[in-house]
Amino acid sequence: MQLSRREVFGLLAASAVAAADEWIPLFNGTDLTGWRANGDRAAWKARGGSLWAEGGRSVLHYAGREFHNFELEMEARTQPGVTAGVYLPAAIQEGAAGPAGWEIAINNGARHVWQRTGSLKDVRGVYKPPAADGSWFRLNVTARGANVQVRVDGTLLVDYTDPAPPARGRIALACHGGKGAVEFRGLRVRPLPDDAAAPGEPAVMDDTARRILAATRGNFPVVDYHAHLKLGLTLEQALARSRRDGLGYGIAVNCGKTFPVENDEGARAFHESMKGQPCYIAMQAEGREWMQMFTRKAVGLFDYVFTDSMTWTDNHGKRMRTWMPAEVGTIADPEEFMQTLVDRATGILEHEPIDIYVNPTFVPDQLQKDYDRLWTDARIRRVVEAARRNQVAIELNDRYKLPGVRVVKAAKAAGCKFTFGTNNTGPADLGRSEYGLRMIEECGLKWDDFFVPGAWWPKAYERRGDLLKA
Ligand SMILES: [Zn+2]
Repeated sequence: MQLSRREVFGLLAASAVAAADEWIPLFNGTDLTGWRANGDRAAWKARGGSLWAEGGRSVLHYAGREFHNFELEMEARTQPGVTAGVYLPAAIQEGAAGPAGWEIAINNGARHVWQRTGSLKDVRGVYKPPAADGSWFRLNVTARGANVQVRVDGTLLVDYTDPAPPARGRIALACHGGKGAVEFRGLRVRPLPDDAAAPGEPAVMDDTARRILAATRGNFPVVDYHAHLKLGLTLEQALARSRRDGLGYGIAVNCGKTFPVENDEGARAFHESMKGQPCYIAMQAEGREWMQMFTRKAVGLFDYVFTDSMTWTDNHGKRMRTWMPAEVGTIADPEEFMQTLVDRATGILEHEPIDIYVNPTFVPDQLQKDYDRLWTDARIRRVVEAARRNQVAIELNDRYKLPGVRVVKAAKAAGCKFTFGTNNTGPADLGRSEYGLRMIEECGLKWDDFFVPGAWWPKAYERRGDLLKA
């Protein structure tokens, strides 16, 4: 790219003045001096002290100078519907649609575009929006070698080290069109030494990592909605894994009779302890008593609610947890057991305000070898139809490798949504949703077959909260 004489002078002046630890303002608050647009130039304006983009698809790059290692800071504010981005130094080609390089997404609620603000686009998705339309938020990006860290309002969302170092060049802002406007202000850069050490190890590229990347690029919400902080797994460790593996998490607390949380007060305390963290906050409803233990208000604090069909009372009055062989005893009549299981599972889907059916179609150990025979097409159809009718997503459960392929295919054909879910017992078995990622390929699942809280239909507590304790 050819620089004008003025830009060359600007570049020389900037390098002469700026020591390695000084902040360089990129925007003077009054006009677009130092910036050049590719695409619809009219989309960009300086107005009221901020830099506005509205309407057209356009990239505005900072021509003043190039950066290698640096910290970039800005504030941004979105109107509903707009998606925008910040390109990290990349080779800008005149006339090209956009630069080749990394993009930090700005998207606080665009419909069906799941990678929210702070995502390293198509590489590391952020799914729970860390900012909201209409409010200013602060975006910080630190680039050192092949490592990039992204923070929104001080919270670390992305910490990614690429196996190959990226191209270096110019910083750019992008407007991707859409209905509203996006504003930027306080744009500034602080160069870091060329030899500044990258803080992390390069991302590992195995089959699962490749599947996660493909799903991320394909607009799947790559979120493990069923993670537990158990056996000493801390939130900090879970979030570090989330950044390492490129998977979002929903952290769930078990709520119900004899479980860690037994009332509204406990539910509120858990929610409070997780507030503002870059993960979803989930309620795992336990047993069938939970609806009489929690109010709609307390349940509504959570991003979503899920339950399984593993705790119920049979037709002879025996309450059992079906994963505990001692409580199940010997099943004398598997057909009768299956009939009851299907009745209970559909009953839960019909009558409980839940968003996700987890550990779906689980059968006790002693029946597992006959899973495919016992889950007849008719039984599968009853459960799948109840899930679809009641807008309950079905978990692709990593711990039990459930449900089986026939169930997944039937659920897809019926129009059900799916989620990834591990149901880990501690730090050692918090996987990477391998089973669900495999089901995408095996059953031909698409991005819009996947659940996102509140995106396809209102949350369960909104639709059916009247079933809960008053
Ligand atoms: Zn669980």
